[in-house]
Amino acid sequence: MAGLYVHIPFCKKRCLYCDFYSTTLLERRAEYIEAVLREITERKSETDEPIRTIYLGGGTPSTLPANDIARILAAIGMQEAEEITMELNPGDATAGYLQDLKNAGINRLSIGIQSFQDHLLRTIGRRHNAQEAIEAVHMAQKAGFDNLSIDLIYALPGQTMRQWEEDIETALSLDIQHISCYGLIYEEGTALTHMMEKGEIESIDEDIENEMYDYLCNRLKKAGFEHYEVSNFALPGFESKHNSSYWDGTPYIGIGAGAHSYLPPVRSWNINDLNAYIHGIKRGTPERGQEVLTEIDLYNERVMLGLRTSKGCMLSPSVDRRLTVGNYSKTGLLREEKDGRVVATLKGIHVLNRIIEDLMI
Ligand code: SF4
Repeated sequence: MAGLYVHIPFCKKRCLYCDFYSTTLLERRAEYIEAVLREITERKSETDEPIRTIYLGGGTPSTLPANDIARILAAIGMQEAEEITMELNPGDATAGYLQDLKNAGINRLSIGIQSFQDHLLRTIGRRHNAQEAIEAVHMAQKAGFDNLSIDLIYALPGQTMRQWEEDIETALSLDIQHISCYGLIYEEGTALTHMMEKGEIESIDEDIENEMYDYLCNRLKKAGFEHYEVSNFALPGFESKHNSSYWDGTPYIGIGAGAHSYLPPVRSWNINDLNAYIHGIKRGTPERGQEVLTEIDLYNERVMLGLRTSKGCMLSPSVDRRLTVGNYSKTGLLREEKDGRVVATLKGIHVLNRIIEDLMI
């Protein structure tokens, strides 16, 4: 089984914290879609395995008309796809649009809500408000979507513990199946980072950020969600199949500007530039980089990704288990399973980078 990712790099407005590759040049959408359709046709046979998951991410895929989404899905072919996810900005949701997406074949939505507090949404430059976010979820449910995920961000500037608790309660009241939560990162060069450097906003204290994360994990567990990856929580049976395949080494093809592909042992990536991407595809000489992963690279990647999940990972015999794993188990940072897998505990997740570094070879 394999996955297929399509990157839609358009955003109506840039959020202040974002360092993803995206552009506000919406007038280039039509020629971009033509390039994407051509790349799909040329590349979908790169894997013999059936495409089990499709993910339209961005950027903001919901800047595209539903008709373009339908063309993309038709070009991929959905016969074997079990999960077809699209990211949706709450500001783009209308009853008609959501119904059209459902009719086009989308069966899972990932809604970029980020916060249910209007003042925090304004601080980070999102273009929707809390009411629109809640309405987007209700409209999606009415359109028949029964597999919904929302994204939330914590440790936002000025956010209190109380506000974070309220956000989680609001999320739980929406009858959704999946929640992805990320601590805000001040990426170099973003507008939000400049604001922090100029003293216009203050970052949240690290202890409070950790408290927010622990509260989240405990509260969602109590509500029946499984904490199946560091930032991801799902009701049983609703784990993201597409994202899980990234973490367990399933092959995937990435289509569009900046998209990455993994067809073991080769990883490749399309150029991160709208013009260069479109022209490369038109010329028939796509601008794509690649690297061949060695056995050691593949092992290190398994450790890095596996330890982020509740399944954990198997370790190479060359890792001194007694010294590394033994110490981490004693201090409650790692758990050793009977079959030899090691799994990071909640306490361990707070120092995961250090553990991963120690277990790599
Ligand atoms: S909508 Fe998403 S991709 Fe676009 S600027 Fe905001 S965070 Fe970045």
